[in-house]
Amino acid sequence: MENYKITLLKGDGIGPEIVNQAVKVLDKTAEKFNFTVDYDEALLGGCAIDATGVPLPDETVEKCKASDSVLLGAVGGPKWDKLPGDQRPEKGLLGIRGALGLFANLRPSVIFGPLKSASPIKDDIIGGNLDIMIVRELTGGIYFGERGRKTVDSNEAAWDTEMYSVPEIERIARVAFDLAMKRNKKLTSVDKANVLESSRLWRETVIRISKEYPEVELNHMYVDNCAMQLVRNPRQFDVIVTSNIFGDILSDEASMIAGSIGMLASASLSGGKLGLYEPIHGSAPDIAGQDIANPLATILSVAMMLRYSLNQGAAADAIEAAVAKVLEKYRTPDIYEDGFEKVGCEKMGDLVCEAL
Ligand code: NAD
Repeated sequence: MENYKITLLKGDGIGPEIVNQAVKVLDKTAEKFNFTVDYDEALLGGCAIDATGVPLPDETVEKCKASDSVLLGAVGGPKWDKLPGDQRPEKGLLGIRGALGLFANLRPSVIFGPLKSASPIKDDIIGGNLDIMIVRELTGGIYFGERGRKTVDSNEAAWDTEMYSVPEIERIARVAFDLAMKRNKKLTSVDKANVLESSRLWRETVIRISKEYPEVELNHMYVDNCAMQLVRNPRQFDVIVTSNIFGDILSDEASMIAGSIGMLASASLSGGKLGLYEPIHGSAPDIAGQDIANPLATILSVAMMLRYSLNQGAAADAIEAAVAKVLEKYRTPDIYEDGFEKVGCEKMGDLVCEAL
């Protein structure tokens, strides 16, 4: 029987509540699909600052590296907002991504049928179920390039640098092509190759890597057009691959198409088996400890973990189907509509387990 070692980084605010529900669902899934899971907990963010003085203790990095995968709740909150930038909880988040070499960020934008009305996009544009996967390069490009300030013609000026090397583009392209192979075999590479030299190298490299994936239909789109197409005709997309800055913007746009922040999962991958899985929302300090947070984004993050790190695709499908089934009748307050039964965080976890 397969055994997996998962490190839990519950974090702050609603983090512990939502991770506890996801663990319950993972345990139920393990029972059903004949594998076992051992958990180890480690500190990240505000709780780590309180206990150790730093947002990312060395012990946390060691535990994560020694595990098959990491499940993160969320970090941060008003208690730590006044600390200087390099001592804040969010610094721990960037730190763990760097320490684990997580260069690929996967953000699915999925609309579950019963939640279609939560999307701000008209029904006839969404059609049936929407399912887009955005693959964002996470450790390169303009957010990590050289920057500075200087005086130009007696005026203060500032500059940032977008730079990508061929190996950086190759590895993110392979992640995207591999994903497309597991989905509908359609990949859109987004760049600004009509203007930017870094985008021209991006496009040349993606085209070269595409020869290794003859079954995948590749097309290219300028980022401005992609921003428009996401709301005009989102159903044309399967997998989108793009740079750090373009992915930052497009993945937020795509998540709005799906409607609710409490429903959206994400994965950050290193190219190997180890991945870090987390909901895209934050620690929601305004609702922490009230048993009203929506745990589904974290539960769906567990489904991504099973699919992308643990090679348990059928178990991932079962969790997603259970979530869809529960949504036909039950809602947490953030996604509540008339005609449904309102339930809390804990009860939502129980219902997903029952549906499994
Ligand atoms: P947030 O995502 O925590 O909350 C935004 C709004 O969405 C709030 O009204 C909140 O109640 C609601 N919300 C979020 N998740 C929900 C859920 N699962 N169920 C129901 N409602 C939910 O964003 P924010 O308010 O800008 O940030 C709060 C804290 O979280 C800050 O300290 C911020 O730095 C941190 N943060 C952490 C992460 C992370 O850990 N990855 C991401 C974003 C923000």
